[in-house]
Amino acid sequence: MMTAANLLDFDHDALAAFCEQLGEKRFRATQLFRWIHQRGEADFSRMSDLARSLREKLATCAVVKALPVLSEHVSTDGTVKWLFDVGAGDAVETVFIPEDDRGTLCISSQAGCAVGCRFCSTGHQGFSRNLTTGEILAQLWYAEHGLRARLGSPGRVISNVVMMGMGEPLQNYAALLPALRAMLDDHGYGLSRRRVTVSTSGVVPMMDRLREDCPVALAVSLHAPDDALRDSLVPLNRKYPLTELLQACLRYLETAPRDFVTFEYCMLDGVNDSPQQAHELLRLLGDQGPVGAVPCKINLIPFNPFPASGLLRSPKTRVQAFAQVLIEGGLVTTVRKTRGDDIDAACGQLAGEVQDRTQVQRRLSRGSIPIRPLSPVAGAVGAPPGHP
Ligand code: SAH
Ligand code: SF4
Repeated sequence: MMTAANLLDFDHDALAAFCEQLGEKRFRATQLFRWIHQRGEADFSRMSDLARSLREKLATCAVVKALPVLSEHVSTDGTVKWLFDVGAGDAVETVFIPEDDRGTLCISSQAGCAVGCRFCSTGHQGFSRNLTTGEILAQLWYAEHGLRARLGSPGRVISNVVMMGMGEPLQNYAALLPALRAMLDDHGYGLSRRRVTVSTSGVVPMMDRLREDCPVALAVSLHAPDDALRDSLVPLNRKYPLTELLQACLRYLETAPRDFVTFEYCMLDGVNDSPQQAHELLRLLGDQGPVGAVPCKINLIPFNPFPASGLLRSPKTRVQAFAQVLIEGGLVTTVRKTRGDDIDAACGQLAGEVQDRTQVQRRLSRGSIPIRPLSPVAGAVGAPPGHP
């Protein structure tokens, strides 16, 4: 028997192609897409403005399949972290960060990561597999509709998406692209290009692809002002060294929705945090640098330590001194607030609970991971996300 298609795997165009195979016109696909992504509906029988014949047809060949939730933790600061089961003992994390003027969802793109950065617990975990488009979008679908119901919000809860969870999004480009398109689609999540950010450790050829296919805001994980140090922190630098990476940033900016790149710089005690290194960074990104001035903002991230890294977080005074050099040199610089500390939702801690995959499986079989799905989605939306 043919396996049912998961409609979360499709962007609007792919859904239209799917509907066409069923003999349906494009506007039917648009209606269906809106039901799924705008209303969070997973039950075809409730899609009241679709012809009964189509609803019945869909029920035989399609599903809207979310990811099972292994756990949910809510921080005292409102940050929510979910652990989703992606099968075979793998799990990925998604984090919602509420702020006064926005709601940001941090989404995972892979189970594990092949880049292997020294300071990243996902990197230490190694690579399991790419997520599918449906698994990437399921994180947004579940969070948006679950939170909307919980908060009793009539409108959108998530205004920003950052691809900063587990994995290197540009090493999973084929699945990422339709997911980004669904996020931006007016009939999908309708997010602004400026509010969807792809974060990359610097996969240069795929930065060029993204620039062509779907320019969104770009964050580049820099972490070092010179190639020797970056080689040791971000192994991908050996393949795409700084000059090539910065050139790719300049090319990206030609089509980007924002006129700057955000450079992330994780502050590691005694490794990359000296005032001299701040001056080197200024030189690298300024007029005198290898590619000339790169329009950018710098985001200094306090390192979230984990034992296997053998690294420590830079003291606050050192972070401030580093920031001061950059600011005086004319670079817009911010220090990332840590959020959700009490639930380990901060950057690079995402893999904490899933590092030992066999352990997850063991805990799963014992059922000891707290499973606290969101309350059922009320009103217009049908089955609660995660339980279509
Ligand atoms: N793979 C992509 C996106 C996921 S990582 C990338 O590397 O950009 C998202 C951000 O978290 C990156 O800037 C990464 O450098 C940072 N990060 C990883 N581990 C961290 C840790 N232990 N402490 C602080 N930031 C970390
Ligand atoms: Fe992968 Fe990003 Fe972690 Fe590096 S920092 S190992 S690229 S997830």
